[in-house]
Amino acid sequence: MEKITRRAMELAQCYGASAVGIATIDTLAGGPPSTDLTYVLPTARAAISFAVPLNQDDIELWFSKKSHAKHFKDNIRANVIASGISLELANYLGQKGYPSIPLTANTAYREESPNGRYDEFPPISHRYLAVRSGVGFFGLSGNVLTKSEGGAVILGSVVTAAELKPTDPLAAGENYCDLCRLCTAVCASGYIDGENQASVTLGGIDFSYSQKRHHSRCDYVCGGFTGLHKSGKWSTWSPGRFPIPDKDEAFYPALINTVGPYLNRPHTGPAIFNVIMPGDKVGLTCGNCQLICHPDKEVRKRRYKVLVESGVVVQNPDGSLEAVTPEEGRKRVAAMDAETRALYESN
Ligand code: SF4
Ligand code: SF4
Repeated sequence: MEKITRRAMELAQCYGASAVGIATIDTLAGGPPSTDLTYVLPTARAAISFAVPLNQDDIELWFSKKSHAKHFKDNIRANVIASGISLELANYLGQKGYPSIPLTANTAYREESPNGRYDEFPPISHRYLAVRSGVGFFGLSGNVLTKSEGGAVILGSVVTAAELKPTDPLAAGENYCDLCRLCTAVCASGYIDGENQASVTLGGIDFSYSQKRHHSRCDYVCGGFTGLHKSGKWSTWSPGRFPIPDKDEAFYPALINTVGPYLNRPHTGPAIFNVIMPGDKVGLTCGNCQLICHPDKEVRKRRYKVLVESGVVVQNPDGSLEAVTPEEGRKRVAAMDAETRALYESN
């Protein structure tokens, strides 16, 4: 048990993970459905959880709007590495005689919930496995934060029939989240409640984080349909300027109304393939709540300042994205012909 546990953890580290842990059927007992390892493998006994770091320099360029492509490509790279580590681990453990199921890092959904994949329930929650096994801890945002990279990680997991030795959650004193609430301040959609707590019990240990509002908030903004903050002073990387509603129930209709304009905008550069998105593809435009959360509070504060002073994104006729001042943004969109302008804002 000790040897195969050590080897599996070492493999994940060798292939690019910065933190690795083990969760088991017992340490996940009592958790929500997405911690039921037997959902993907009836003989499951354990899961290896790990985090792949994102490039911090590219995140700085993301917030200052000096480069969209650098972090976008790095994000795809980290996701592919996380999915690849899961596949390599499943292959290794399988050859050692333990049936194992690799999991993709993102974009996998359960189909049997009332709205199928559109409810966005994952087969297995990487987040719960990560906090229970000590890969990281929950911040207020509900994102998993690691000690060295903060929220700037992509999580992955593999489920296995091997009996592995569980690792402990991180001690409460190691959680650097100081409730600075910058994760809520950089969320244009208001998805993170920020006041009321949600909690989960895994193997007899309680974990808590902020409640979330309806997930269509994040779908609407992080999905790139719109991106202009209500203040009008800054935006995500989306050139959309459609209004952001106040109430949960208004988000889904708003999203549906902007699918046409979204599809008809020029799409250039990299894309993430995702079956729940119109055209099966999505650009990366936000992730702010995750990316702002550096372990050093001064870095968080600087990133926030840089973001709110970075201006708003407009799209040029060739599809390129450009950050301009809020006033210039208004002028550029007002100067478009009516058909083009309708791709970005309501008449
Ligand atoms: S941004 Fe601040 S409040 Fe939000 S998770 Fe990070 S440390 Fe916690
Ligand atoms: S990804 Fe963006 S829209 Fe979604 S919760 Fe985070 S900050 Fe808000």
